Amino acid sequence: MTPLEYDRAFIWHPYASLKDAPPVRMARAASGVEIELEDGRRLVDAVSSWWCVAHGHNHPAIVEAIRRQSEKMCHVMFGGFTHEPAVVLAEKLASFAPSGLDRVFFADSGSISVEVAAKMAIQYQTALGHPERRRILALKGGYHGDTSLCMALSDPDGMHTLFKGIMTSHFFADKPSCPFRGEWVPSCARSLANAIDEHGAEIAAIVCEPVFQAANAMNFYNPQYLREMRRLCDECGALLIFDEIAAGFHRTGPRWAQDHASVTPDIMTVGKALTGGHMTLAATLASARVADTISNGRPSAFMHGPTYMANPLACAAACASLDIFASSNYATNVKRIEDAFAKRLMPLKSHPNIVDVRVLGAAAVVEVERLPSQADISDVIDAHNVWLRPFCNFIYAMPPLVSDERTIDRISLAIMDLAGRPPGCAPSDPDFHE
Ligand SMILES: *Cc1c(COP(=O)(O)O)cnc(C)c1O
Repeated sequence: MTPLEYDRAFIWHPYASLKDAPPVRMARAASGVEIELEDGRRLVDAVSSWWCVAHGHNHPAIVEAIRRQSEKMCHVMFGGFTHEPAVVLAEKLASFAPSGLDRVFFADSGSISVEVAAKMAIQYQTALGHPERRRILALKGGYHGDTSLCMALSDPDGMHTLFKGIMTSHFFADKPSCPFRGEWVPSCARSLANAIDEHGAEIAAIVCEPVFQAANAMNFYNPQYLREMRRLCDECGALLIFDEIAAGFHRTGPRWAQDHASVTPDIMTVGKALTGGHMTLAATLASARVADTISNGRPSAFMHGPTYMANPLACAAACASLDIFASSNYATNVKRIEDAFAKRLMPLKSHPNIVDVRVLGAAAVVEVERLPSQADISDVIDAHNVWLRPFCNFIYAMPPLVSDERTIDRISLAIMDLAGRPPGCAPSDPDFHE
């Protein structure tokens, strides 16, 4: 058996079957914006390997930070120990985050950081004497991860419908319909206000992906929505949780997606680009009010603690990544990426089979009636040497933030080629994931 044959027979890939799985490519190296295949071909990673490789693959400063930390200590349990990479990272994160979010819980993946955020909100309400506030209000079209509680907070008609009912059901407001650019229409937040009117006394927190609903909708919505959300939370005594795992770290332009609205949450989750895509790490940041209330409650301890919490290698990688964020001018480069995508892709809007084209920051989405066939997708990837991973009815790019104009042009040409291919037959086994 070749390694590829073994992989095909025995190893699950994300949201894939172990029978008739679409082919995977053998990657052997990666640097900058490119992934190198076994046969030496190099593909532009237009997906930033699921949105995390912000500074490019194998950034020398991050690789060096991991190497140096590995010589001292790869891991130590965080129960009863602390270490320099964790402390330095907590300080760097607090100064990088919106002010007031300086209490940190290190998680080992984005999903876990969302679970932690929801548990914090519930423990906070319990400590305040509101044990009846145990449910979360989330948005249709949202995505917050694949673990059980995260599934229960993601679009109820999205990729997790198979598991409906295994968790407490939470409350949902309509997907924000008011686009990022354009007039704010107050009725856009009506469903949110209605849900609070109806269930406010049971709600511990409201959670959303600020401005950019990614994996379930690829929807850029009006920042005013976040201000309404903040106001409604304050009125009803619910906490506000922003999941910045996809949209944070300049993906939509400014450092945080919430910066478009100048609204700050009580709890915020970060992941994906935190280590620049070099190690798995996420964090839940909370305000002093949230932390103090939990600490004054009973139990005083916050009840979560993963085995690999604050893994030193991952923290070292994140410290180096945050240094790069701090010393780079990504806001400017992301604007350049946005302009280049808009110039190339907006004209597709008038084409048949194309429902909409949206660009915000370093994220470009071509929504089609139906995706081309898997064979056409593969053909476009190979013809342009550009790695694309369309899903549902979205052809999209979220390239590394360091991408230059030539790279964006190459990605755009591949997307234009793909969007021009005929729609495939209705998928029998849809690839729902990002
Ligand atoms: C990817 C993602 C998650 C889950 O992160 P994992 O690291 O895959 O567990 C949660 N929320 C948002 C908004 C995401 O994009």
